[in-house]
Order: sequence, then C-alpha cells, then structure tokens
Amino acid sequence: MAAATLGIVEALSFEKARSEVLARVRAARMIPHLEILPLEQAGGRVLAEPAFADRDYPPEPRSMRDGFAVRAADLPGGFTVVGEVRAGQPANCRVEPGEAVEIMTGSSVPAGADTVVMIEHTTVTGDRMETTKALEMGTNVNPRGRDAMAGALILNPGCRLGYAEIALLASIGVGEVAVFKRPRVAILATGDELVELEVRPEPHQIRNSNSWSLAAQVVRAGGEAVVLPVAPDELETTKSLIAEGLECDLLLLSGGVSAGKYDLVEKALDSFGAEFFFDRVLIQPGQPCVFGQAQGVFFFGLPGNPASTMVCFEIFAKAALEVIGGVAEPLLPMTCAQLKAPFRQKPGLTRFLPARLDAEGLLTPVGWSGSGDIAAVTRANAYLVSDPEKAEYAAGEWIKVMAR
Ligand code: AMP
Ligand code: MG
Repeated sequence: MAAATLGIVEALSFEKARSEVLARVRAARMIPHLEILPLEQAGGRVLAEPAFADRDYPPEPRSMRDGFAVRAADLPGGFTVVGEVRAGQPANCRVEPGEAVEIMTGSSVPAGADTVVMIEHTTVTGDRMETTKALEMGTNVNPRGRDAMAGALILNPGCRLGYAEIALLASIGVGEVAVFKRPRVAILATGDELVELEVRPEPHQIRNSNSWSLAAQVVRAGGEAVVLPVAPDELETTKSLIAEGLECDLLLLSGGVSAGKYDLVEKALDSFGAEFFFDRVLIQPGQPCVFGQAQGVFFFGLPGNPASTMVCFEIFAKAALEVIGGVAEPLLPMTCAQLKAPFRQKPGLTRFLPARLDAEGLLTPVGWSGSGDIAAVTRANAYLVSDPEKAEYAAGEWIKVMAR
C-alpha cells in the first residue's frame, strides 16, 4: 500500500485537507511575477498592487434622483424654481429658503440645498413647484466622500478582478493595471489504458479525458495549462515526465494513486525526494488524493476516475493554484439549499455528488453510475455536499451545495 510505504496513515477530513493545502502553500511564500495589462484585458486576473481613490467619491454631493434640490426644513410646501443643474454641469447656483433647483440623477447638488424631492412627488406649474412630501435631511443625496475619501485604499492586491473591480479601477482612471502572471500548471495523466485524442481506442482502451478537464479547470482558475503526454504505468517514463512537470509552478497528476499493483505515481514522486502531506481524504469521489512537494514544487496526485479528478481539483488543487497565483483569499463556492427529495448515504465520507439546483432553489442529485460517469457531471450544475456524520436527510432539509 502506497500510504503505508510513505508512512502516512491518517486520512483527513476534507476541511482539514483543504486547510493543510492552504497552510503549506501560503507558508512557501511564492511571490508571483507581475505583468502590466490594459484594463480591457485584465478581467479575471489577480491584482498585484493596491489601488487608491484619486479624489473623494463622490467629489461633490450628488443627486441620486431626478427631481428638485431643496432644504429639508422647507418641506412640505411650495417653492420657487430658480434654476436647473444638468448632469455634467457645475452647480454654480445657490438654494435659499423657499427655493428649489431642478436637478438630474448624477448632478452636483447646489450649495444651500441638502435634500432632493423626486420629480414623481412634485407638481410643477411655471416656475412654481409644490410637494406634500416631508423628507429627512439628506434624502436622495450622496454626500461628498461617502463611497471613498481621497487616498483611501479601495482594492487590495490579491483580489480577483471581476467586473465590479474593473469598473472601480476605471472610475479612478487606471487604464493599465499590474496583475500577477498566470501560474504554469503541468498536467500529467497516467495509465496504460489511455490513448491521446487522435488515436482510435481499442476496446480495452479509453481516451485521456482528465488532461482536458484539468486544463479547462486550470484556465478557469487563472492558470496556464501545460499538458504533458500521457505516462504509461511504467516507472522510468513516469519519472522523466514528472521531471518535466516539476519545471512548472504546480504539477497535477491524474491516475495511479490508488492501491493497485500498477499505481506507481507516489513511488515515482518519491524518487524526487517528495514530501507527502496527505494521500487519503475522507471524501467521495476522490478518496485517494495525494498532496505533496518535490524540489520546491507542489503537486497533487488526483485519483484517475474522471469525477474524482474534477472534484479534487475544485476543492484542493484550485486553492493551491490560486495562492501560487497571488490570490489572497481562495474561496470555495459553497452555499446551502433544501433537498427536493430525501437523501441517504453510508456515513463516514463527505460526498460531493453531481446535483441540480432548480429555479426554486431545491436540490436534486442527478442519477449517476459512479465516478467514471462524466455525462452525469455535465447534467449537474452543482455538487451536493453531505455531512459525513449524517445517514439520512429528509425532503426539505437544508444541505450544503458547491457550485460546479
Ligand atoms: P486509477 O486512478 O489510475 O486507478 O484510474 C481509475 C479509473 O479512472 C480507471 O477506470 C481509469 O481508466 C480511469 N482514468 C484514469 N485516468 C484517466 C484519464 N486521464 N482520462 C479518463 N479516465 C481515466
Ligand atoms: Mg491507472
């Protein structure tokens, strides 16, 4: 047994295993290189430098509605309309008691006014405006500096640049942004039964699909996939491909980590002086999942069954890739949902089963034939995540869900 040879006996819960991954990779303090990208190419990348507000946001009190700028103390009542401020125009008028200035959403609120009455709540005749509304001072006005004061830190390095972060950078005038370079992730599938895509498989062979699901997962997680040729279940070739893989920032192997006679991955890694942090996790699919480090490079030996490879990547390898890529806080996209029907399991393992979350927020596991059933995973939009101590869930009971 591989685990016994390596002296690792304790199987970890998935939470402990994930914490172990995060702790080990963080402790290695790998500082990624930077690159400068135009803003339009920076979406999805990881910010490498802090971003600061270049002025107060908003720089002047701003109207949040179309309507009339007034003094709250004058409400309700009749007003003389003394002017207009359009969005994009300086507000160089003043509102005196009993006066109103017509104002648009996004316009600066003129001096003297402290409140905006929505146009829908007014009646206008000539230069007179009437309203029956009494409003608290400041209603519909965004005061100067409420969103950010000049110089304030508004984005931390290590944050993933989603569309809101890109908008924030645009609003402070950042046209070129420093991001971390994508980590290069080597992908090495192992198994005598595997053939490459262009080869027509014999009945006893299958096409290598794990390298391609992993490549897609790596890219989605912000890495650059380096797909190596398939390694047969033979020590020397596996070793020479591992040597190639160790030139990248992270190495992902699939297959060859169970207890089978030809599962040679751990032995091959051992010859590189590998340190193994765990090689069994109490999950299904994905129980024989290996995590370690060799020659300074972290690696995962992911179990070969396609769904096992996919799940182990999502919960373990992705966290490592993200930390190596400079992400400050890798997150698992977990939430809770109610089960549509009862669910039973044999306790002991946290299950990550392909499931569908419907528009009402109810969760149903999709039927599957086991962790080799790739088609079942494509029918799922989530994973049901079970509590390893629970044997039964009732219909309507809350259960954890992970996004797919
Ligand atoms: P292993 O972990 O090597 O024992 O493989 C477990 C199962 O996953 C076997 O049925 C393999 O044929 C299958 N498998 C292993 N590697 C791959 C791969 N790269 N693509 C598709 N299936 C695989
Ligand atoms: Mg195998």
